[in-house]
Amino acid sequence: MKVMVLEQQGGSLQCQERPIPTPGKGRVLLKVEACAVCRTDLHLLDGELPDIRYPIVPGHEIIGRVVKCGPDVVLEKGVRLGVPWLGYSCGECRYCLHGKENLCDQARFTGYQIDGGFAEYTLADHRFCFSISSHYSAAEAAPLMCAGLIGYRSLVMCGDDLQRLGIYGFGAAAHIVAQVAKWQGMEVYAFTRPGDEASQRFAQHLGATWVGSSEQLPEAPLDAAIIFAPVGELVPLALRAVRKGGVVVCGGIHMSDIPSFPYALLWGERQLRSVANLTRQDGRAFLSLASQATIQTSTTCYPLHAANDALKDLREGKLTGAAVLVMETPPASEMFDVDS
Ligand SMILES: [Zn+2]
Ligand SMILES: [Zn+2]
Repeated sequence: MKVMVLEQQGGSLQCQERPIPTPGKGRVLLKVEACAVCRTDLHLLDGELPDIRYPIVPGHEIIGRVVKCGPDVVLEKGVRLGVPWLGYSCGECRYCLHGKENLCDQARFTGYQIDGGFAEYTLADHRFCFSISSHYSAAEAAPLMCAGLIGYRSLVMCGDDLQRLGIYGFGAAAHIVAQVAKWQGMEVYAFTRPGDEASQRFAQHLGATWVGSSEQLPEAPLDAAIIFAPVGELVPLALRAVRKGGVVVCGGIHMSDIPSFPYALLWGERQLRSVANLTRQDGRAFLSLASQATIQTSTTCYPLHAANDALKDLREGKLTGAAVLVMETPPASEMFDVDS
């Protein structure tokens, strides 16, 4: 099978040939149909995450079909599953026991500590996979696995009683969360890099009430804001834009340093918080909501071997919506026949 591998920090991905792995206990072998590309993959490439396991196959927004099951797993061949960022949690620690498996110290993450979906096949722990509605094509569903899920968790962390939601950085996660927020009756205020007219048009197309640059202030204060761009300078700007008691949520795994700012920006019981990873409960809640709200994803597709191009386009801000690697589909007769 072909895989795209990161051998070392700061490198680009190398295309390699590997044997198709055999699923052990608790694992399923999936034929990957599509895997979306996330900003976290760029942080991985740039060595901005701690303790990266090299060599690593990135990719944590996987849609694939079951080809083979481990000895204790009962799943039909051909069943479609989604594999998210959270690939394992211990189930026993204080976090796991209190609905916060996203914070588990033993947690392991797909495409970071576990080889991910930039590959023709991948192994996954079946307990951490989601079943995926047949209403979505594989490419359409892939961005739901992280952009959608983390966006949803970020929105939940904004609290109740939201009318005006600000979103800083209008990429893959924003384009999904904006639809959820609209469906829940909120007004969306989209903040982009100054002069990024393509993102502003995209936000307008998705029904944003207001679009502008991150340096602007809307006329009325926001109830909450989510920052998806990995830019610390946005934190004081977002705090300035929210009302008393409002929440600013940082939705990314990595962010540049936050500059110092006057305490007055936090005063008035404003809150600043991060969102880390996801729980399986988030996944179930979000995927059910995505179906009800008929959330649509906007994707730019690339073949597996062009993963470096997809990453480059993401880095350069050339995409509207999400980049997705779409694998070649072999003839159905060969698809689930990996033993021959
Ligand atoms: Zn991600
Ligand atoms: Zn745990």
